[in-house]
Amino acid sequence: MPLTRYTRPLPSSTGRSFQVGGATVPGFDITSILDFNPPRYACPTCRGLINGLSFERQENTGSPIQYRLFCPVCRTEYVYGEYTDGRSAIEWLDEQGASVSLGKDLIAHARTVAEVVRNSQSTGWGHDGPWPTMRLFFEVLSRARSFVHFASWGISHIMIGALKMTSMRAPVYGFVSQVEDHARVELTEFPKEAPNLKAKVINPREANFDAPHQKLVIVDGLLAFKGSTNLTNAAMRKADRGLDLTEVVTDYEKVADLNNRYFAPVWKAINTPEVVQKVMWADPWG
Ligand SMILES: [Zn+2]
Repeated sequence: MPLTRYTRPLPSSTGRSFQVGGATVPGFDITSILDFNPPRYACPTCRGLINGLSFERQENTGSPIQYRLFCPVCRTEYVYGEYTDGRSAIEWLDEQGASVSLGKDLIAHARTVAEVVRNSQSTGWGHDGPWPTMRLFFEVLSRARSFVHFASWGISHIMIGALKMTSMRAPVYGFVSQVEDHARVELTEFPKEAPNLKAKVINPREANFDAPHQKLVIVDGLLAFKGSTNLTNAAMRKADRGLDLTEVVTDYEKVADLNNRYFAPVWKAINTPEVVQKVMWADPWG
């Protein structure tokens, strides 16, 4: 019995079950579809999941610009450069490829991911659940559309292969601590084989910050795997024997919170620790 736990979001307060032809079906308030509004951007600096930049009023700076814009996760400030030409920060984020693009039909994509998770747990006639953790992981990765973030302590070749394959359809960003040399080579030494896999290896002895212990995989900002299971074959199979724990989170607010607390700060610390400000449209040729 896999110990891949699925935390089902609480039904909305209006969602009561009712009877149709003798069967009990859950109620669903169709207006709740309008509240389906997962994060639209990943900050170009920290990969924090956000719905836009935050702003606060600047006092007594003498500057004609009254508001400063910043990422609510890493607080990097985004300032308008001299070639801004009346464009908005949102346009700049789009130009940076920072949009979380889940396709024309966002709800259909979310439904596909949700079906995979539900099927993974379904038992009985016509169902083959519960699935091993590794299958659920592969099934979800194969449907990634916009991005994948991962963090692990150790990683196996199968997982590296799965992430490289995923990066052919959606960019994959991640960091791994405590990596054996052969895995480090596969992750970092052949960047042209999988150019959209941006993987960083952290050597706990050399890092100038605490090597992260978090295990986390985020797919499209809609789903997260979290828990004690590392991205190794042994850990995934241990989870199936109840010795390790993976939790699947499908509430996108919680997914964003996990990403912004455990992934984004480390991503920034690894890649651009010194950056506190970025200029938008500094140079049209830049
Ligand atoms: Zn940020």
